[in-house]
Amino acid sequence: MSGAPDSRPKLRISTRAVHAGLNPAENSGAITAPIFQSATFVAADTAELRAINAGERRGYVYSRIRNPTVLAAEQRVAALEEAQSCVLFASGMAAIAGAIAPFLKAGDDLVALPDIYGGTLKYLRTILPAQGVNVIWAKGIDAADVAAAITPNTRVIYAETPTNPLVRVVDLTALSEVARGIGAKLIVDGTLGSPMNQRPLALGADLVVHSATKYLNGHGDLIIGAVCGDRALTRDIRSLQQVSGAIVDAHSAWLLMRGMATYALRMRQHNTSGQAIAEFLAGRSDVTRVFYPGLPDHPDHALARRQMSGFGGLVSFEMYSAAAAQTVVDRTRLFGIGPSVGGVESLISQPGNTSHFSVPAEQRRAMGISDRLVRISVGIEDTDDLIADLEQAMEAAR
Ligand SMILES: *Cc1c(COP(=O)(O)O)cnc(C)c1O
Repeated sequence: MSGAPDSRPKLRISTRAVHAGLNPAENSGAITAPIFQSATFVAADTAELRAINAGERRGYVYSRIRNPTVLAAEQRVAALEEAQSCVLFASGMAAIAGAIAPFLKAGDDLVALPDIYGGTLKYLRTILPAQGVNVIWAKGIDAADVAAAITPNTRVIYAETPTNPLVRVVDLTALSEVARGIGAKLIVDGTLGSPMNQRPLALGADLVVHSATKYLNGHGDLIIGAVCGDRALTRDIRSLQQVSGAIVDAHSAWLLMRGMATYALRMRQHNTSGQAIAEFLAGRSDVTRVFYPGLPDHPDHALARRQMSGFGGLVSFEMYSAAAAQTVVDRTRLFGIGPSVGGVESLISQPGNTSHFSVPAEQRRAMGISDRLVRISVGIEDTDDLIADLEQAMEAAR
């Protein structure tokens, strides 16, 4: 526990998940980060207060501006993403809004890829246009679709990979070339991949955003978001957050740190079970199609192998009928029926009833989301128990 972190060899992700953000020597030897449950921090004298406010001296004044526990958790997320800096937000949606806002003003264009999270879709369709930002939708998720959609006014390209619920993979290297060509920022929602499986910043993204509610925290007990990137960009994001106020409190930041300590262990299990369940589903005659980038017949398999080092716990599949799909959902015992992904508990749903409930049925079908589609978020239970549970539910549907 001694020596400056910079003097150590580069640490691997499991180690960073446990150690980043901790400094026991500064905190009475505490092995966890102290929870600084304090709104205000007092200075020794007026000169110190002035120096802290002016940024000439490291210190704390008020928890909306900066809090030591939140800072520790931010360091851990940044370490996982190998980013210079991270800003935590009150939710994934607040992180997305907070990442986009500093780079757009009225009259600017944002180009968005079509397959994105429902909340983000709503934000881009309603809030940004009301602020005078022109949102342009690419026709598909290929870099060529995005290149065809950009304009001289495009300041931000917004993408999500892998996508939900069809688990498509977006080519971030190609997309970052398009962004660089016009001097736009590439902002990527990397929630479903998470840093163990993919690192968008290393592939050319300017900022990566997370619903840390999902894999990073992993325990289903917190709504929280993160934005990571170079300090020059996160500085602007933080400045805006300090006045818009969508901050994280110390206790939530501490819970996130605790969740992240087991992040790499959990992610390995999500990856192993995700692959095994996808292969089990692919071998069944009552399953007509499986969507998982780890399967060789997935349309983005080759790209996923280049860009990702694991394929995660989101698996979607189509049953032979809508009634069979519903029976499988209702008859599983270990899978909770509900939305969200990335937690320790497995979940199951028909996207038409959860993430895409508000999308009209016809539009849903045009997006490739049929009534026969079932989506599962594979938790960290025993792989064989999960497969046996799916098997008995499928037999009940026959
Ligand atoms: C859940 C989710 C969000 C929204 O995050 P919240 O923490 O619920 O606000 C954004 N993007 C993706 C891909 C998500 O899965």
